[in-house]
Amino acid sequence: MTEISITRTANPRTPPADDTLSFGNVFSDHMFMLDYEEGKGWHSPRIVPYQDFSLDPATCVLHYGQAIFDGLKAFRGADGRIRLFRAGDHAKRLNRSGQFLCMPELDAAMVEESIRALVDVDQNWVPSKPGTSLYIRPTVIATERFLGVHPSRKYLYYVIVGPVGAYYKEGMNPVKIMASEKHVRAVKGGLGAAKTAGNYAASLYAAEEAKKAGFTQVLWLDGVEHRYLDEVGTMNIMMRIGDEVVTPPLNGAILAGITRESVITLLRDWGLKVTERPIAIDEVIAAAKAGTLEMWGTGTAAVISPVGELGFRGERHAINGGKTGDLTKRLYDTIVGIQYGTAPDPHGWTRLLGNRVGG
Ligand SMILES: *Cc1c(COP(=O)(O)O)cnc(C)c1O
Repeated sequence: MTEISITRTANPRTPPADDTLSFGNVFSDHMFMLDYEEGKGWHSPRIVPYQDFSLDPATCVLHYGQAIFDGLKAFRGADGRIRLFRAGDHAKRLNRSGQFLCMPELDAAMVEESIRALVDVDQNWVPSKPGTSLYIRPTVIATERFLGVHPSRKYLYYVIVGPVGAYYKEGMNPVKIMASEKHVRAVKGGLGAAKTAGNYAASLYAAEEAKKAGFTQVLWLDGVEHRYLDEVGTMNIMMRIGDEVVTPPLNGAILAGITRESVITLLRDWGLKVTERPIAIDEVIAAAKAGTLEMWGTGTAAVISPVGELGFRGERHAINGGKTGDLTKRLYDTIVGIQYGTAPDPHGWTRLLGNRVGG
């Protein structure tokens, strides 16, 4: 890639205090941008002051949703050093998402480099209070101006970052989830395996219904039989039934979560049996009733989210007595330890930014 040009803001802001942070509403001083044009390829990598876009009202992404993104984090350890968690894997996934939406190839090394360069420029925005992090949002949108339906010939790849608060401010809190037989998130042959804007739009209606019924998240069942588990909210779903850990296979309707992969790797390191296979909702309810079930969601935002209650066909089933299970807690503590540099990182998931704050 040609060298990234850097234009620093003339008006640097002071990042908010760590204990005021929540999620996704504060952004740093700079952003990364890279343009694509058919015939010219990706060009003009640049870090510029955080700014608005100007888009023609006919820009195709606004009409047909040709948009992808990813989400990853940088952490400031107790040693003051900044670690990026599995940035190379997130970069590869962004490119894979783009393939589903007929976007031009994005060089994963370039994506990773753009992230590192931006975090480096805005490293004073990486918070340091335990549990806080810098959330990184690489995004690609189709920017050609037309209303015919075809893949765009122009794109913008950009990255924004912002400090986010601890997900669990008062300890791990098991969530209540509701399985839906009426709504589906994605189907095999569709875009379920891509991190694309439309999947999120498609999830909103069912999520609102679940909230009205007193649940935090939707447990998505497969789109054909409405019987097999796919995902939970915007996380992958996993459970321990007796002494086996099971999670749905990557069947084309499921997003290949990087946290999911980290968890499977750790469980196998620990000598536990992990099986990727279809899991029917009746099997889950039977295990909940038998008291042999522990269940959690996996995703970058929460890392691990314990599930304490499952609603299905108007009935509510407690899971693990509504409490966070031991394996759930161990997984959370281990991954968080790796992210903040307090636990060994045998798989090389973190990469240091290479700067030490305050000395
Ligand atoms: C992002 C996402 C996940 C979690 O992926 P991670 O890489 O673990 O953050 C799971 N499911 C869906 C639908 C997602 O969009």
